[in-house]
Amino acid sequence: MFDTNNTPTVSLIADNRLKTSSTRNACKLCAPLGASLVFKGIEGCVPLIHGSQGCSTYIRRYMISHYKEPVDIASTNFSEESAVFGGGANFFTGIENIIQQYHPKVIGIATTCLSETIGEDVPGLIRDYTEQYSDASTPEFINASTPSYCGTHINGFQEACISTVAHYAQKNDCQDHINLFPGFVSPADIRHLKEIVTDMNIDATIFPDYSQTLDNVHTNEYELIPSGGTPVKRLQMTGNARATIEFGTVFNKGNSRKKSIHQVNSAGEWLETNCDVPRKALTLPIGIEATDRFFQTLAQLSGNETPAKYQAERGRLIDAYVDAHKYLFGKRVVLYGEEDLVIALTIFLLEIGMKPVLVASGATGGTIKKALAPYLNEADEPIVADSSDFATIRELMKDLKADILIGNSKGYYISREFKIPLVRLGFPIHDRLGASRIHHIGYRGTQELFDRIVNALIEYKQENSPVGYKYI
Ligand code: SF4
Repeated sequence: MFDTNNTPTVSLIADNRLKTSSTRNACKLCAPLGASLVFKGIEGCVPLIHGSQGCSTYIRRYMISHYKEPVDIASTNFSEESAVFGGGANFFTGIENIIQQYHPKVIGIATTCLSETIGEDVPGLIRDYTEQYSDASTPEFINASTPSYCGTHINGFQEACISTVAHYAQKNDCQDHINLFPGFVSPADIRHLKEIVTDMNIDATIFPDYSQTLDNVHTNEYELIPSGGTPVKRLQMTGNARATIEFGTVFNKGNSRKKSIHQVNSAGEWLETNCDVPRKALTLPIGIEATDRFFQTLAQLSGNETPAKYQAERGRLIDAYVDAHKYLFGKRVVLYGEEDLVIALTIFLLEIGMKPVLVASGATGGTIKKALAPYLNEADEPIVADSSDFATIRELMKDLKADILIGNSKGYYISREFKIPLVRLGFPIHDRLGASRIHHIGYRGTQELFDRIVNALIEYKQENSPVGYKYI
C-alpha cells in the first residue's frame, strides 16, 4: 500500500493523463484514519477500529509521527476466525477493555475494509452490548461506516463528523451561537479559529477540536485520554445554532457521490436538512480573497466588525505580496493533497502570481476541476489529476519543468529526484518537527505559508548559485 518504488509502469496517453493498471504510493490515506482524527476531537473519546490490528497500527503510526503525541487507537483485533464468523465477540471484549482501562465518555467506532466487506452490523452490535451490559459507566457510542475502498481519509473524516452530529444534535429553539466546522486543518489552525471567534465576540462550537488532544502541553502525569476536545454539551447544541460555517466545498450538495449512510455529504448539510440550521460553505480561508470571505461571513453573523488586529495582519500580508512578487511571479508549482486543500491552495497561488501546473489528489469525482473552473483561464489551466498516486505525479512532472512542490512529506523523494524545493504542509509530515503548529488558514496562516514558499525559492537559488551572496 505504501510502495515507495519510484519505477512506474505507466504510459502517457493522448490527453496527457496517465493510464495505470495499479495505484502505487497513493496520494490519499485510509478512511478510518480520517474518522479517528474526528474522534480525537471529541472530549473524553477513545477511537476504536473495528477490524484488523494492522489497520489501527497504521493509523497510530501515521498520527504519532505527524503530531508527535502518544495516540491511543483501540482495535477489535480481527483474526481469520472473526473474518469468517463475524467480529461480535471481539467487539464486546474490546469495548469492555476500553471501559476498564480508559473510563471514556465516548467511544468512536470506525469500521475497516474487512469489517465492511463481511457486512458487520455495528449498530446492531452496539444495541446488543447496551441491552446486555449497560450501566452507569457505559459510555456513548458513535459509529462511522468507513470502508476505505469507497473513499479517502477525508471521506472517513466527513462520515465521522456527520455521525457525531447526527448522534448528538438536539433540535430546539434557535440560539445565538454558531457552528464552525473547519474540516481537516492543523491543531494550530483550530487554535487560531478559537482566537478569531473570541476576538469577534462570537459564541462558536468548533468541531472537531483536536487542538489540544493532538498537540498537548507537557504534563508530569500521563493522561490516558488527553484533555481537550469538543465537549458533548456543545455537540448537543449544534442542532439549535444560528448557522453553520463549514470549510471546504467539495462536500457540497450534489458535488460528491453520496457515501454517507445518513444520505448527506457533510455535518453542516445534515444540520441544515434535519435541524434547519443554515449552512455557509466556504473555501478554506487561504489567501486574501478567501480569508476576506470568512471574516465577512463572521461579521454578517455577529454584527461585529473585523478587529483591527486582523485588519493589520491583512495589511502586512498585502505588503509582503508586493515585496516578494519578483521572486514568485510565473513560478511553476506542483501541488498535491486533499481536494479541499489543493483547491484553496491553487486559488491562493493564482492570487500571488504563481503558476500551478499540476494539481493532484487521491480523491475521485472531478470536483477539483469543477471548483477551480471559475478561477482559471485556458492559458493557466493546470493538469488536474484526480485518483492520483505519487508514481503518476512523478511521471507527469518529467515534462512540467516545475520550480517547486507543495504538499505533504510523501512527495519528498520526488523533490529529491527533481532537485526542487518542497514546502511541507497538510498531512502527513513525517520528516519534520512541528507539523501540528503549521498555520495554513487566515491572514496569519497565509502569511506564514507565503514566507515559507518565497524563502524556499530564495534558498534554492542561493544554494545553487555559482557565487555566494548574502543580500537579496
Ligand atoms: S482500513 Fe483498509 S485501507 Fe485502511 S489500513 Fe485497513 S485494510 Fe488498509
